[in-house]
Amino acid sequence: MDSRFKRALIERLTGELEAARSIDAGEIAAEIKNIGFSCLMCGRCCRSEHGDNSVIVSPAEIENICLYTGLEHMSVAQPPHESSRDLRERRTLEELSDMIDIQGNIHTFGWELARKKNGDCIFIQDIAAGNKCTTYPARPTLCSTYPFYIEEGELRVSECEGLGKEIGPDESLELARKVIARYREELKETILLYENYESFISGPENINKAIENIREGIINYIVHDSTGSHRTTRRIS
Ligand code: SF4
Repeated sequence: MDSRFKRALIERLTGELEAARSIDAGEIAAEIKNIGFSCLMCGRCCRSEHGDNSVIVSPAEIENICLYTGLEHMSVAQPPHESSRDLRERRTLEELSDMIDIQGNIHTFGWELARKKNGDCIFIQDIAAGNKCTTYPARPTLCSTYPFYIEEGELRVSECEGLGKEIGPDESLELARKVIARYREELKETILLYENYESFISGPENINKAIENIREGIINYIVHDSTGSHRTTRRIS
């Protein structure tokens, strides 16, 4: 990423953040009320069998979950695409070649919540055990605002069985405020991420170095987030 592109990206995001400051919570609440929503506590959005269940988390949210659960950072969060792509496949590495440096480190943007082997969020209990979120009071805002989010200033809605159910005015307003706060936070996080981001030399020739690491049973990641760049080594079987 050259510095001119990075600057242009930061300027665009800063403009979006500025515009986000004037989003009216009452208008968003009216939209939510009109759409209707009630959480059925079914846990479907936490499970992989019902579609994309990845949860992007900020460093502050990870810290919050660590404090609540007593778990370490690397047990709570992982580099994105760790569980969604098979990095032992050369084809996958070729697709990611722009994100691999000369030491074979795979660079990623931000973190996502760790998942179980079956792809479910690590915090969702089995149905027989109660089907509850074990970090509920400290869950990320993506979870507490699901299925709503804001993109380019507009309210958007993900698939959810609870849509269309009646919601009261106070509850819609509270949800609207949370959705707007999440949108602003995400923009701030992304701006900081790009401000801290140091580019590196990528290229298809670096894939061989990544393959060497993988043969030795490790994947080295450099995760870029709003607090800087973090190197992490993951063992693979
Ligand atoms: S943190 Fe809780 S609410 Fe969010 S995906 Fe995981 S189990 Fe579901």
